[in-house]
Amino acid sequence: MALRPILTFDHPVLREKARKVARVDNSIQKLLDDLAETMLDAPGAGLAANQIGVPLRVCVVKGDENQIWGLVNPVIVKKSGSQVGYEGCLSKPGWVGEVERSEAVVVKGLNRHGKEVRIKSSGFTARAFQHELDHLDGILFTDRLTSLETLRRVEDLVEEDQAEAVAAASG
Ligand code: ZN
Repeated sequence: MALRPILTFDHPVLREKARKVARVDNSIQKLLDDLAETMLDAPGAGLAANQIGVPLRVCVVKGDENQIWGLVNPVIVKKSGSQVGYEGCLSKPGWVGEVERSEAVVVKGLNRHGKEVRIKSSGFTARAFQHELDHLDGILFTDRLTSLETLRRVEDLVEEDQAEAVAAASG
């Protein structure tokens, strides 16, 4: 495993639609390991492969019980409800903004062994999945702000515990 530098919003690869993975092989397993290590080190709640400069449809998301979901070619197959809250991104350190997301999503993809899995998530984890899958389509959280005025420095959030929570939720 290796820590990889996280690219920031000015990098064009973050605006590209990532390519589907044809075969889950050793190189993809190593990519999943690097993503997990880099996410945990940041620390963050998720990380997409293009954030470390690899334009493939691969991402990791931290679950409610700190398990790490590593997914290849993930797609949202079901969504319900809505949640509005502050969200940050490891590729835009120090900034947060208010984004509306589905409250619950079911994500389908391949695991590190190339086997199809379906993951049900809600709340915080569902937000992270939607954020990471957006990355794979070249979409950034700043494209989805409820209003541009909500984009602010994380330290300007009123409550400190809220700021900490949002920082930890970045992906
Ligand atoms: Zn992000």
